[in-house]
Amino acid sequence: MGLIIRSSAIHAAGCYTTTAIRKGDRVAEYTGRRLSKAEADARYEDSPITYLFGLGDGSIVIDGHCTAMFINHSCNANCETSEVDDRIWITAIKNISPGDEITYDYCLYDGGDDKAICNCGAKTCCGSMYSKEEIKRRKDAARKALIKKPGKRKTDKKKKTLRA
Ligand SMILES: [Zn+2]
Repeated sequence: MGLIIRSSAIHAAGCYTTTAIRKGDRVAEYTGRRLSKAEADARYEDSPITYLFGLGDGSIVIDGHCTAMFINHSCNANCETSEVDDRIWITAIKNISPGDEITYDYCLYDGGDDKAICNCGAKTCCGSMYSKEEIKRRKDAARKALIKKPGKRKTDKKKKTLRA
């Protein structure tokens, strides 16, 4: 299997295959140093770009140092990730042609203030790289925040009339 890194329309650099990949094939392993969640948080607190992949319950993360770390997210991905015996594998869920970019759904979580906007360009793009559960959690949190915040919205009747 030939994987190469080159510039991508999705984001900066991407990972492409030079050979055909069949559905079900293992494409790559996500490897790198294993850090505790606390170590990773401390190390990358001010870093806009990280290549962290959570293992198990998320208390351990892989700090990517591999070809797979360049694989971009897509809402219409051709691969998926799975955890097998504390290792992360990227496996094809479609037949992939030579020259195609390799993608998987990041299912991001724990992104802090980062909006993690998706630029995958798929027709089915949901606009975010977060997992469905995380998108829902964030929406709920935002809603709660809206209710909790009283704000200082003084009604300016004159302005209101002018605007209407
Ligand atoms: Zn997308």
